[in-house]
Amino acid sequence: MANLQGRIALVTGASQGIGRACALELARAGATVALAARNQAKLEEVVAEIEAASGQAAAFALDVASEESIKSGAKAVLERFGKVEILVNNAGITRDTLTMTMKRAEWDDVLATNLTGAFLVTQAVLRPMLKNRWGRIINISSVVGRTGQAGQVNYAASKAGLIGITRSLAREVASRGITVNAVAPGYIETPMTAVLDEKLRDAMIATIPLGRAGTDAEIAQSVVFLASDAAAYITGHVLDVNGGMFMG
Ligand code: NDP
Repeated sequence: MANLQGRIALVTGASQGIGRACALELARAGATVALAARNQAKLEEVVAEIEAASGQAAAFALDVASEESIKSGAKAVLERFGKVEILVNNAGITRDTLTMTMKRAEWDDVLATNLTGAFLVTQAVLRPMLKNRWGRIINISSVVGRTGQAGQVNYAASKAGLIGITRSLAREVASRGITVNAVAPGYIETPMTAVLDEKLRDAMIATIPLGRAGTDAEIAQSVVFLASDAAAYITGHVLDVNGGMFMG
């Protein structure tokens, strides 16, 4: 198991689903985890879960769609822990509809949260990470950012954009001991996908060679791997964790 003892991690969208699983798994590997999302009460529940397992964590209410909220949230994290060494940009939303019917607000909301949010959170913690000369930035993209998906031009653009950020930033910060990678999950059972109807779910699973949906823990384990010393020589990479749904 990876040893992240003494490391400070920040996970956005940590109140449920993949973000929650990442926070639990990072804490299990020994990291102290700052959990961020809009709903403070739900974050506190995850913090309690981590503490009950003898881990260390704290909750920070933060809206990644708001620059002001990111600035004050990141400031609070840095005041509390001094630095962020592992950043997991996971917060994300969907507003699915066909291009012909997509409202400007549906485009803007998804891009602001999934793409601009990740950029601004990264910027907010990057200076101390550069000074620290060690860091791991892990962006949660999606298989859809690689293949496209009807009804998701906004979401797919945001997730493909995260891959662009990953590869560009990886080149900018490599000399400072910071790696930047993306994880591209396939179809994972979380509250986000629980709203899909059964027919769509079955159709999706029929496209997965491994024949099942993935779990949030399986994504979290790949995140912990990328955060670990075992992944020290991996940067600018997009790790597909999708049961074979797409083979890049
Ligand atoms: P969920 O909807 O279950 O969880 C999303 C998390 O993001 C919640 O903690 C939510 O908390 C937080 N969040 C949403 N908007 C904001 C915001 N403006 N500011 C801060 N936090 C926010 O999603 P999943 O766990 O399924 O997905 C997590 C990530 O993985 C997303 O980026 C998603 O696109 C990606 N992904 C998921 C896949 C899947 O099949 N589930 C497949 C591929 C990628 P709150 O509402 O309290 O803010």
